[in-house]
This record gives sequence, structure tokens and C-alpha cells, in this order.
Amino acid sequence: MTKLYIAVPCYNEEEVLPDSSQKLLSKLNEMIAQGKITDDSRIVLIDDGSKDKTWSIIESLHKGNEMFQGIKLSRNRGHQNALLCGLMTLKDKCDAVISIDADLQDDINVFDEMVEKYESGCDVVYGVRSKRETDTFFKRFTAEAYYKILDKLGAKIIFNHADFRLMSARALEAFSQFKEVNLFLRGIVPMVGYKSDIVTYERSERLLGESKYPLKKMLALAFEGITSLSTKPIKLISRIGMVIFLVSIVMLIYFLVRFFMGATVDGWASLAVSIWAIGGLQLLAIGVIGEYIGKIYLETKARPRYIVETYLDDNN
Ligand code: UDP
Ligand code: MG
Repeated sequence: MTKLYIAVPCYNEEEVLPDSSQKLLSKLNEMIAQGKITDDSRIVLIDDGSKDKTWSIIESLHKGNEMFQGIKLSRNRGHQNALLCGLMTLKDKCDAVISIDADLQDDINVFDEMVEKYESGCDVVYGVRSKRETDTFFKRFTAEAYYKILDKLGAKIIFNHADFRLMSARALEAFSQFKEVNLFLRGIVPMVGYKSDIVTYERSERLLGESKYPLKKMLALAFEGITSLSTKPIKLISRIGMVIFLVSIVMLIYFLVRFFMGATVDGWASLAVSIWAIGGLQLLAIGVIGEYIGKIYLETKARPRYIVETYLDDNN
């Protein structure tokens, strides 16, 4: 039987928490009654520095029922960091952790399927949205375009998967070796490797309250996703520099031809060529420096170079 922990980041969620906590509780109790998970499974609510009554709600939930645990962050650090805190705190306490948003837009009824897949040997089970009907056209369009761009830039991400997933203790342990400060969880989890699978579900509307992801936070997350997973934008700059430099050579020939034909004003050819050549060279130089910064950048992350999957030692 699986000892399952549910990690729920909460930021100013006083409106949805009373309801969603009860839904999570009855779901877990149901799974315990069916013998799918152990009775010391827990729901862990992570308060991401909320300004409303979220924390006092969590405190009273915990007092009323030991199934609820709470973690409070010192201040608002954003969804990704709150979730990371939850995952890292819980990784040694259970067999598997499912992360889910407090508004329960993701379907808690696929918990069973996630746990089944975990028990049959998957270390990561991604929740994938089958449709995006509840999203506005704008959100659906931008989200899908964004996933495609990330894919083109070489980042391995699961299409239409956000942060609703199950991770085994072993996957979390491996994941804890990724020391990135720039955090885009859904891009890093696939790098852990191990056997994974997906479950599909339909995403519903937020129960109550407003989205805690205004456009500004969303754009910041999107940008984080690109710059923390790919150095291709830097390479693009040096490529542009190279092209402009080549153009300047062509221009040089053109200017020289004009010059010898006597069709120029004095000083024009030399000036025009230097503008192109210097501009191109500068961009190229910036690009090359950028390449190195890109390398340093990846280096400072100190990502693990390999992760051991099996270790055959004296005990087996
Ligand atoms: N959240 C958080 N810190 C933040 C913003 C959001 O922990 O700074 C949590 C929030 O409480 C929710 C989850 O992140 O559990 C997703 O937020 P939301 O549902 O508002 O995003 P949306 O579904 O609109 O993208
Ligand atoms: Mg939501």
C-alpha cells in the first residue's frame, strides 16, 4: 500500500480552502477505506505567505484532523517555490507525493489512477488536460503556442501538463539534486528520467475566488520557462551578428565598386562600411560573450550529471 501525501500550495485561498480541503479529505478517506493508500497518508497545505486568513484556516484544519498538515513560508515566493518547498519537505516522509492547486481545477478523481500507475512501477505520473474548453480562447491559444515554442527551443516538456503530478520518493530524491534557483518545475521534472506515464482529465473552472496568476505573473513564469531551460536565444544573437558581419563584407565589395566607378562622395564608402562592419562585429562579440555567460549560467546551476537508477551492492 502506498503512503500518499498531497501537496497543495495556497496563496490567498481563504475562499476556496474550506471547500477544497473537505473534498480532498473525503477523497483521501475514500481511498483509505478502499485500501488503496495507508491510513497515515496526509494532505499538506503550503501557505505561500498569504495576506488573508489562509494560514489560520490551515491551523484550524490541522487542529481538527491530523490528516491535515501545514507549512508556512516566511513570505510570498510564488507558486513554483511553494510547491518545491512542499515536495522537498515531504520527500522522506512518504512513498509518493501528488501536487495539486488549491482551487481543485484539476480532477481529484484521477488520484486513484495515479496511485495505480505508481504501484505498477512509474516514478512520475503527469496529469494531462484532455481539453482546454474551460479556458478563454486567449489563454488556450497562448498556452499552446508557448508549449510549441518551448519544444522548438529544445526544452522537454509534457504538452498540456501543468503542475498536477505524482512523484515517487525516489524521483523526488533525484529531483532534489537539481539546485536551480530559476525554477520551472514542469521543465525540470522530465530531466529526472525514470519510468513515467500520463493520466488525462478534464480541467474545470476555479471553484471560487480569483486566479492568483495575473497576466504579469504568467508572463514571468513563461519567461522563466524559456531562460531556465534553453540557451538558444543567446545563440540566436550571435548568429544574427554573424549574418550582419557577412552582409558588411558584401556591402564592402559593393561600396568599393561604387568608389572605383567614381560614383561616391568623398568619405562615404569608408563611413558606410565601418558602420556595417563595426555593428556586425560588436553583435558578434556580444554573442560570443553571451555563449560563455550561457555556459557559466548552466554551470552555476550545478545540475547533476547523472542519476543512478539501480545500485547492485552486497545486499542484493
Ligand atoms: N499560488 C501560490 N503562490 C502565488 C500564486 C499562486 O502558491 O504566488 C498557488 C495558488 O494558491 C494555487 C496555485 O498556485 O493553488 C495556482 O494558482 P491559480 O489557480 O490562481 O492559477 P490559474 O489556475 O489561474 O493558472
Ligand atoms: Mg487555478
